[in-house]
Amino acid sequence: MNDLTTEILLANPQGFERAAEIWRAGGLVALPTETVYGLGADARNDLAVARIFEAKGRPRFNPLIVHVASVDDAKDLVEWNDVADRLASAFWPGPLTLVLPLKSGSGLSPLVTADLPTLAVRMPANPLAQDVLRGFGGPIAAPSANPSGKISPTSAEHVKAGLSGKIEAIVDGGTCDVGLESTIVGLFDKPTLLRPGGLPKEALEAALGEPLGVHSAADPLVAPGQMTSHYAPGASVRLNASEAEEGELLLGFGAVDCTLNLSASGDLREAAANLFHHLHALDAMNSKGIAVSPIPNQGLGVAINDRLKRAAAPRD
Ligand code: AMP
Ligand code: MG
Repeated sequence: MNDLTTEILLANPQGFERAAEIWRAGGLVALPTETVYGLGADARNDLAVARIFEAKGRPRFNPLIVHVASVDDAKDLVEWNDVADRLASAFWPGPLTLVLPLKSGSGLSPLVTADLPTLAVRMPANPLAQDVLRGFGGPIAAPSANPSGKISPTSAEHVKAGLSGKIEAIVDGGTCDVGLESTIVGLFDKPTLLRPGGLPKEALEAALGEPLGVHSAADPLVAPGQMTSHYAPGASVRLNASEAEEGELLLGFGAVDCTLNLSASGDLREAAANLFHHLHALDAMNSKGIAVSPIPNQGLGVAINDRLKRAAAPRD
């Protein structure tokens, strides 16, 4: 999909209004923040969030950071706590992302959290980012606005070079001040550094009065429920199935007779949007197993297959 005309929006009230209109319609708008340009979509809209992965060509549904205009907006999405309060008063708005338990009824698409029970949330300091978020009035999921595997963009030109034709618009806010991604801290039993970034670790430790725990890339994520088994339904999962066997439910794709269909028309974007919802729904039916139709391994199908393979992997 490379057939959209990407509008360049000025960072003024008309531009912000247009960005909000595109977001409300399920479109993608890149926005400037003080760290890097983000590729934003309405975090409550499954299809819009699926399009983020499609536009970036991401081979996996890794969790996305949700951007909000205020601390109160963050509190609507996560179970806030005292440590979050301390760090947010010291460093928000700014290049700090907090990972906290997802609040039930947050209304976010499960694609945003990759179906995890935690959410990464940030209030950016760039006044243009705040204006555009406030104008929209809802949570915006935004990874860096670059094709997967490429360098993060720090100007509207970078975004255009990487994603022109794949997204509806770019808000041109000049060059990003920090130019580094946000620092990510997980607020679990012990506050843990999940990714170094624009806010130095020392500043965080000074505010906390204790050293941060360290998360090594080799470890499974330390948040509760973030082990690979979290991705697995209770039922066993069998891939590339042409039909359900005795006692199985079929998660279909395309024109097949099945219990639930990811996309009857064979649309990978729709299939990505439905993936977690349908897996949960089938799991709740307590069958012996879930069989899954073959999914083409191209575009969003790569990320869908990655997640299904993990759901089907042997359990610990
Ligand atoms: P990006 O969107 O590519 O700028 O990066 C987002 C980063 O945030 C990734 O490294 C994710 O692993 C991390 N992240 C997002 N959500 C969570 C979460 N719920 N728990 C832990 N890490 C997260
Ligand atoms: Mg990135």
